[in-house]
Amino acid sequence: MIVILHSGIETDSSDYLQLMDYFNNRPDIETRIHQVAGAQQTITEIYLIGNTSALNRKEIEGLAAVERVVRISEEYRVIGRHHDDSRSCGFDYKGIQFNQDNLNVFAGLCAVDTPEHVELMMKALQDHGQVCTRMGAYKPRTSPYAFQGHGASCLPWVFELAGKYDIKVIAMEITHDSHIKEIRQALDSTGHPTGVMLQIGTRNTQNFELLKNAGRQNDFPVLLKRGFGITLEESLNAAEYLASEGNHRIVFALRGMKTNMGDPHRNFVDFAHVPVIKRLTRLPVCIDPSHSVGSRDQGPDNILDMAHVTAQGVIAGANMILVDFHPVPKKALVDGPQALTLEELPYFLEDVSIAHEAYQKRKALAASLNS
Ligand code: PEP
Ligand code: MN
Repeated sequence: MIVILHSGIETDSSDYLQLMDYFNNRPDIETRIHQVAGAQQTITEIYLIGNTSALNRKEIEGLAAVERVVRISEEYRVIGRHHDDSRSCGFDYKGIQFNQDNLNVFAGLCAVDTPEHVELMMKALQDHGQVCTRMGAYKPRTSPYAFQGHGASCLPWVFELAGKYDIKVIAMEITHDSHIKEIRQALDSTGHPTGVMLQIGTRNTQNFELLKNAGRQNDFPVLLKRGFGITLEESLNAAEYLASEGNHRIVFALRGMKTNMGDPHRNFVDFAHVPVIKRLTRLPVCIDPSHSVGSRDQGPDNILDMAHVTAQGVIAGANMILVDFHPVPKKALVDGPQALTLEELPYFLEDVSIAHEAYQKRKALAASLNS
């Protein structure tokens, strides 16, 4: 059961204390307090754990601090979309909205290599009105002999270049808790020229200690990739780990599943699950066409498979696209063969907007049928 308080209720107010007294007198009920920061205000939600079936909903709703009570019907207590649940989805970070209704594109380098390449990428993004990017500094690689990313050493100059080109959010994978601290330090030392969305990659979807640590901090939102070899339920529980520790600013990313059934794509594209995630949770949903398809193969219609699957995800309502670009793919240190070029950026954005418009028309059509 979730008890949602009126906005502006202070934790030292008599209404709040009366409510806590009410629960403290019930020894079989444990309370977990969540502060949910929205664009305008912070809302307090109290999650009740234990024998909640014995609680009287009407009585709780009658207490002065309480706005409403949501009965939890599903197992994803915090991220889930429960019966009767009209709580809003999404969050604001660095002035950018992330929710289940809009769409943000994060085009950028799979791995940071040279300042020249990073600058060319960021300039192209600014030239095309983009304010988000992806830049990997810590790369989880299959082979221990492959380039592992520049790590903390590149962060200051990457952040400074982001500030120069007005990039507001960089999606950046972390593979260890210490990376959160390193990112925070580099942002502090450069005066916060940009923001970072911590990315937890598919190899770490069930790294529970990493999830707990990313969930315990509230400086950065988290982009969680679906695990490539586990069930959807297991991946959604990984998102619940983040949220249950207190960080509600989560985007859930689909990036394809590891199975030979998806050949010749690198992974089996799972973008049909975009509406499923939106139905089961209140999280914005990201698609990653680069790591799903993993090649620049194209059909007889001259459209890249990657562009096709992007359109398929967007036309099904995806809210974010994470996609690899590189100014000189041949020189990329990671994933060059799947990178799109800077010349392709305006084409890609236009193709995405066609699909997005089509999704909005489909949504309006469905609404007219149901009204
Ligand atoms: C990436 O986005 O660079 C990446 C490694 O993705 P994934 O975790 O989906 O393989
Ligand atoms: Mn990659």
